[in-house]
Amino acid sequence: MTAPALTVTFLGTGSGAPSLERNLASVAVQRQGDLFLFDCGEAAQIQYRRAALGFAGLSAIFISHMHGDHVTGLMGLLMSLQMADRVEPLQVYGPPGLGAYIHACRRHLQTRFSYPLSISESSGAGCVLETDAYRVTAEPLDHRMFCLGYRFEEHSRPGRFDVTRARALDVPPGPLFGALQHGNSVELPGGRVIRPQDVLGPARPGASFAYCTDTRPCPGAVTLAQNVDLLIHEGTFEAGREDEARRKGHSTVADAARAAQLSGARQLVVTHLSPRYQDSSFLAAQARAIFPNTRIARDLMRVEIQHRETE
Ligand SMILES: [Zn+2]
Ligand SMILES: [Zn+2]
Repeated sequence: MTAPALTVTFLGTGSGAPSLERNLASVAVQRQGDLFLFDCGEAAQIQYRRAALGFAGLSAIFISHMHGDHVTGLMGLLMSLQMADRVEPLQVYGPPGLGAYIHACRRHLQTRFSYPLSISESSGAGCVLETDAYRVTAEPLDHRMFCLGYRFEEHSRPGRFDVTRARALDVPPGPLFGALQHGNSVELPGGRVIRPQDVLGPARPGASFAYCTDTRPCPGAVTLAQNVDLLIHEGTFEAGREDEARRKGHSTVADAARAAQLSGARQLVVTHLSPRYQDSSFLAAQARAIFPNTRIARDLMRVEIQHRETE
């Protein structure tokens, strides 16, 4: 079994107020040595410790919106990083108002951050972070206040190296193989040039997921979730309670399943459940009737995303 491309850990899966079964919204995602947090509800840092995730790899936090159940854990986490003598930079992304909130808390709590903390606010759709390995984009969702959903997507990977084909083209094994595998053309001793596309199969997709909470069913969520390996979508209420969900700016588990179906997602995990649901098995059945590859999130549940070989 190869190592997963991404490991997703649900730290908190409830909505509104924490319960003994469900903490508030927060999802941790590990990719190689990096760790990203999506939302930071109350007690996220305790759950973070329970999940045995180290603070050292934490490089970026993405906040969806300024409702308390998504953001009240942030200040405590930032302060714990300070107490742990963090020196690595930390990026925080989110909606307008996030920076003012953090700075007001810092001022009133008379604390400071000795590590470089950069806060970046987005007020619309677009790319919020891009490296040479992955890209994070945001889209506004449809909630009671401005709310951002996110899509995390690795860039596509080079195709498989065809050794037989390389040998047939007289490429000697060794450094030239490596150069071709990394996408560079090489010149053979006789002067003939071999291009990567001569010996590599079609490019292979990178791993991807979308994080969409809180929201009514909306096009932004479907855009973010286009063909993702994993869609994390809120389903605050049971199917049949669509009126209540719309009024409160939320989705039902059936709405979440329809979003997965419409977007071509491969897998759905429904989160942000109302504390009124102690037993979630009937919610899973409701969602699976529409989108079979669905799970209802539990606190500390882990989902591993493997790389796919083809689209
Ligand atoms: Zn919420
Ligand atoms: Zn909300």
